[in-house]
Amino acid sequence: MNVTSLKIRIFGEPVLRKKARPVKQVNDEMRNILNQMSRIMYESSGIGLAAPQVGINASMVVVDAGSGLYKLINPKILKKQGSGVMEEGCLSVPGVCIKIKRAKKVLIKALDDTGRPVTIEAEDLLARVFQHEIDHLRGKLIVDYASVFTKLRISGALKELREKAENEGLSESETKSCKLQL
Ligand code: ZN
Repeated sequence: MNVTSLKIRIFGEPVLRKKARPVKQVNDEMRNILNQMSRIMYESSGIGLAAPQVGINASMVVVDAGSGLYKLINPKILKKQGSGVMEEGCLSVPGVCIKIKRAKKVLIKALDDTGRPVTIEAEDLLARVFQHEIDHLRGKLIVDYASVFTKLRISGALKELREKAENEGLSESETKSCKLQL
């Protein structure tokens, strides 16, 4: 993996739809990728990023919803509680915002970037971001939550994204239309 060339992958790229492979060994290569992912997340004003979003098929996420940076490997949701609805954007689906119902609280099990097991209790925004990023590891995207009507409304935008994904990048303004970018 050429880590220096990591960049955000856009809707239409197959890596976003693959189930991410579990990480077997937490080593310098993985730590390097997590560091690059954190840099890209902050540079893109995102609050979460999953490895498939930068073209890497591995079960890793970075999250910073305002209470510090989490770098997690092989994260799993152990428990969910309550629910809430909020509009979400995705760095890989620029220009699209979708209201998504998610658990209000989650309990997460993962490895940290030293390979140590951690459990995290999260609620509200932080819980939402973890759920969004863990969706990415299963190949699931925000558009999958859209109602039939929303799907119709955004179908033009998605077609455009797919075409752009085949060509090249997007301009800065196209990536900034949702408040939450994950
Ligand atoms: Zn996303």
